Amino acid sequence: MTRAFAPGSVAFVGAGPGAADLITLRGAERLRNADVVLFDALADPALRALAPNARWIDVGKRGFVGVAHATRGCRQNTAQETIDALLVKHAGDGKRVVRLKGGDPSVFGRLEEELAALAAAGIECEVVPGVTAALAAAASTRRPLTRRGDGRSVALTTAVTRDGKLGAGRHADTEVFYMAGKQLAALARKLVEAGWPATTPALVVSRAGWPDELASQHSVASLAEATLLHSGRPTVVTIGVGAEPIAAGARRARLVAESVAAEEARAAP
Ligand code: SAH
Repeated sequence: MTRAFAPGSVAFVGAGPGAADLITLRGAERLRNADVVLFDALADPALRALAPNARWIDVGKRGFVGVAHATRGCRQNTAQETIDALLVKHAGDGKRVVRLKGGDPSVFGRLEEELAALAAAGIECEVVPGVTAALAAAASTRRPLTRRGDGRSVALTTAVTRDGKLGAGRHADTEVFYMAGKQLAALARKLVEAGWPATTPALVVSRAGWPDELASQHSVASLAEATLLHSGRPTVVTIGVGAEPIAAGARRARLVAESVAAEEARAAP
């Protein structure tokens, strides 16, 4: 069982990647008991029904979200310090505060800064995990991120460094790039420089987990072709073994043959 959501504390809740029904039961329970919810623009508006009595405060900010706000004529990015101060203030007033974040709070969610601000103020908090975009994209496109034999590791990577530069390496059998949607041509070049063969499978998924999700299949060499289709939408790019469609034929037959051989080797005296 989970402990109670105490007044004067903050629950960081992962909203999941899109559709409201991808939130966890624990996350929904925290929302039901919240007095105040601080949320980013990525959260599905339907989540509001889970906390009808709470005060909802939009703190959507930076990157894709910030641009979306600016073009809609809304207020600009809410500075991180303002968000930290709002968390401390509302929890300090004895409220139950939910900090709702898209996907999982621990993945590219600036959780570190907010946890540090609350720790400095002596405020209790907990983190409720959510479905991160890479997992939602793998699920909806039916491309397992790990594959027996040749897909033994997965890396979640941001394509953009702190000072706004594009960076790419090769850290795992499958690498999922966040925040790369606007720079696919440049990403493809960096991937080749980092040692990925140009023929490596590449999968681009935007608005993963939403009813209007789009997915397209490429190779590293042809990644730039995805630019127009996914333009203006939150996008993840999966590179490597985990981007391969499931082959009903050759790959499966090889895996079965390998399992049989391994079984025979174990059974041999
Ligand atoms: N905490 C979030 C990531 C926030 S960073 C998570 O765990 O998913 C924002 C980046 O996440 C976007 O630039 C995009 O790369 C990715 N992203 C977020 N939601 C997405 C979605 N529904 N589909 C595809 N990519 C998404």
